Amino acid sequence: MRQALVCILHCLAFLLSGSSTFGQAAGQPPPPLKVLLFFSLNVEADHMLFATDAIRFIAEVADRHDFRVEATSNWADLNDENLKQYKLIVWLNSVPPTAQQQVFQRYMEGGGAWLGFHYAGFNMGNSRWTWFRQFIGGAYGTNSWPPLPAKLVVDDTESPVTRGIPKTFAAPANEWYSWRPSPRLDKDFHVLLSLDSAQYPLGIKGLITAEKDPDVPVVWTNTKFKMLYANMGHGDKIFTSPMQNKIFENGILWLLEKN
Ligand code: ZN
Repeated sequence: MRQALVCILHCLAFLLSGSSTFGQAAGQPPPPLKVLLFFSLNVEADHMLFATDAIRFIAEVADRHDFRVEATSNWADLNDENLKQYKLIVWLNSVPPTAQQQVFQRYMEGGGAWLGFHYAGFNMGNSRWTWFRQFIGGAYGTNSWPPLPAKLVVDDTESPVTRGIPKTFAAPANEWYSWRPSPRLDKDFHVLLSLDSAQYPLGIKGLITAEKDPDVPVVWTNTKFKMLYANMGHGDKIFTSPMQNKIFENGILWLLEKN
C-alpha cells in the first residue's frame, strides 16, 4: 500500500512538473502563475492519502483557472532562488526542516503567498521556530479522534474565500485540531471558519470540549501576510464536499489574487 502511494505521488509530481515548459514567444501574454506544492512521504498514512488527493484537486483547479502547479517532496526546493518563480507555495502534510525555515520567513516577508493544510500548521508552542508560532497564530491544543465529520460555522460570509458559502455546513471527516491560544484572540488574525461549539464534545477517544476549547478556528489568515491556513487534511474524505472544495478553490484564487 505504501509503495503504491509513493508511486502515485512521484508519478503525479513528475507529470505536474513535466507540463511546465511551454515556450514564450515575444509579444505573447506573460506566462501563467506558478504554484509549488510541498508534500512528504515519511508521514502517517492518512496524511499521505490527503496529499495524494490534494495534488490532484489543486491540479484540476489550476486547469480551470490557468495557472501551473508543480509538486515536490524535496524541502531543498524551498530556497531563495527557486522560490522566485512561484506566486504561491503550499505545504500539504509537513513542515520544513530547520535549514529551510529562514528561507520561508524571507519568502513571506518579501510578499510571497502560502497555503497550509492540517499538519502544516502544527506546532507545540514551545518550538524553537518562534517566528512560525507568531505567523500561524496558535499552538496545537488537542485533537478529536477518530476522524469525524463536523459542522462548521462561516465566521465571515463576505470574504473572497467564503463568498457564496452558507453560514453553516457539514464538513467531511477530518481529524480536528484545537488551538491554545485561539488565533482569534490576536487582532492580526482573521478567522473565516470555525467548529460549531453546539456539537461538543467532538470526538470519541480524543475530545474537543467547551471547557478547554470553547473557540476552535478551522480556517484563518494572518492579515500581516498573504497566507491561509486550513485545518482540513487528514484521510481520503477531505475533497468529498463540493462546499468545502469551493472554499479551497476560492482560497487558492484569493492567494493568487485571481478573485
Ligand atoms: Zn491528522
